[in-house]
Parts: sequence; structure tokens; C-alpha cells
Amino acid sequence: MRATVMHKAYDVRVENVPDAAIQQPTDAVIRVTRACICGSDLWPYNGGPNEVGQRMGHEAIGVVEVVGSDVQSIKRGQIVVMPFAFSDGSCMFCDEALHTSCVHGGFFGNGGEPGGAQAEALRIPQADGTLFPLPVGEDDALMPSLLTLSDVMGTGHHAAVTAKVAPGSKVAVVGDGAVGLCGVIAAKRLRAEQIIIMGRHADRIALAREFGATDVVSERGDEAIECVRELTGGFGVHSVLECVGTEQAINTSVAIARPGGAVGRVGVPHYESVPGGQLTFFNNVSVAGGPAPVRAYMAELLPDVMEGRIQPGRVFDRTVGLDGVPEGYRRAMNEREALKVMVRP
Ligand SMILES: [Zn+2]
Repeated sequence: MRATVMHKAYDVRVENVPDAAIQQPTDAVIRVTRACICGSDLWPYNGGPNEVGQRMGHEAIGVVEVVGSDVQSIKRGQIVVMPFAFSDGSCMFCDEALHTSCVHGGFFGNGGEPGGAQAEALRIPQADGTLFPLPVGEDDALMPSLLTLSDVMGTGHHAAVTAKVAPGSKVAVVGDGAVGLCGVIAAKRLRAEQIIIMGRHADRIALAREFGATDVVSERGDEAIECVRELTGGFGVHSVLECVGTEQAINTSVAIARPGGAVGRVGVPHYESVPGGQLTFFNNVSVAGGPAPVRAYMAELLPDVMEGRIQPGRVFDRTVGLDGVPEGYRRAMNEREALKVMVRP
């Protein structure tokens, strides 16, 4: 089969690799019908993968081709969405809806087994706990939005949940990438009153407004902090969704939270320590978040997607075949030509 392999920074290829196959009785194999290139794929693209020859991709919808002998609920032929992490669905952390800490869990497309989703097929460990069957056909019109349940919509929702967005909240979303835009959707869905999008790409800001953003701050650093204070009566916001992961983004985030507020961070951190030790202490600001347990959110978000109340699939603005993936990394994502790329193997 063919799969996306990252050899080193800036070197992504689509190559022939051994076919995905059952290795454990709890595995399934899916034929990938939709996958994505993620903003987080650009960190190894720029800085180098975890291993030479790393399989890439952690978001997909597919058709179940074969299941292992211990798989109970997942059946051959089902259309399924996978979360970016696999999990057994039965350990204490899965019971607590923290599937990304599953004791039998792990991550796709991160080096080693089980491989990546930017491929014709993928082995899914812990199939019963990991895969989520979808009540649609293989080419349903809702596919783009359903595909975001794999990562970006669930991750934006996690930012909102860990930032304690509540009805009437004032919210700031740091970052106008696909996760930030889904964070806007999530904040609106949780009935925030004011949603400030912080970003500077005109087309993304326009989409954020359609998703429910009420204000825009395109400044950075101290100017951005001042703008948010001005927009919020001088005190800052109740909830900050940090959807970038840079040092500047977390510095801004802790500075714009109002006393008693919360920061939910879902951008993979590329800084050593969380700043604002004095500020967060004296303002009683909590800093939470982490890798989103998107598997836990699928059942909650699915009805809103099915009934069209949310349309996170609008973040996709480019579609490529598997052959187009290296170009997708190079141009569409890294040079910021596209917001989010869908892959149709
Ligand atoms: Zn578990």
C-alpha cells in the first residue's frame, strides 16, 4: 500500500510500504477514505520527525476492512471516524473521559507503530475503544465536518471546556488556525456572549466571524493584551482558548485572563514552562488543557454536525489525493496558502 513518510525536515514522500494488517486480536484495519494534514504536522515538518521514516497523519474517516478475533462492537464495512489517539475505552482514564491518557493507548502518526493516516489503509489498535461508527454513507455531504471530529473540532471544544466557557462568558481565542476557528464554534455552542478572535489572516478572520466571533484583535504582544482589556471593560476575559503553542501565545493568554479566569491550552507547547507565576497566582487564574480526549467528545458533537447546527468542515479549503500530500505540506500548510488540507487517498 502507499503511505506518507517523513524522512527528515522538509522531506515528505508518498511511498510503498507493507500493507496495514492485524497484529493484535484487538486491532482493526481501515481503508482510509478521508484524511488531513494537521497544523501539528508542521512542527516535525519544520523541525524534524521523531524518527527517520516516520509515518504521518492522525485524522481519518475510513471503512472497516477487517477486524481481529477479540473485536466485539466494530464490524467489517462500517464507516468510522478515528480520534488522533487510540484507547481501549475501558481503563480508569477512559472511564474519566481522558482517553488521551489511556493505559493501553497511544498516538497515530507520531513515530513507531501503529503508523499514520495519510495512507491508503491504517491499523487501528484497540478498535472497540478507538473507532466511532458514523451513521452515514461513504460519500455523505457532511464528510468534511465529520472528519473534524477526528481532531480539530474536538480539540477546539476541549480548549473551550478546559477554559470553562459558560453561558454569558467573555472568551478570547488565541490563534486563527483550524483549531482556533473550531474553538470559536465551540465557544459559541457553549453560549459565550463575547468571542474575541486573535489572529491576522483576513480570510480566516472572516470565517471566524461567520462562526460567531464578535470582535477581532490582530495586534500581537503587549498591544494585543491592551486591545483585549479595552474590549472587556478593562479586566480581560473569563476564558482563553490557547490554540497555538508558542511562547508568545501562552504569554498573551495568561495576561488576558481576568481574575478568576481560565486558560485552556491545546496548542502543542513549544516552550519549557508556563509563564505568569505571579500573575496567575494573584489573579486566581487557572491554566489547564492538554491533548484533547476527542474520543470522549464525538458522541456529544455528532448530533450538532448531523443536524447542521455547526459546520466545522468549512475549515477545509483544499483537497488533494495521496500524491498531492508532499505538495500539501510544502505549499498549502507551511506557506500558509491553505487553512486546512483534506486528503482523499
Ligand atoms: Zn483506556
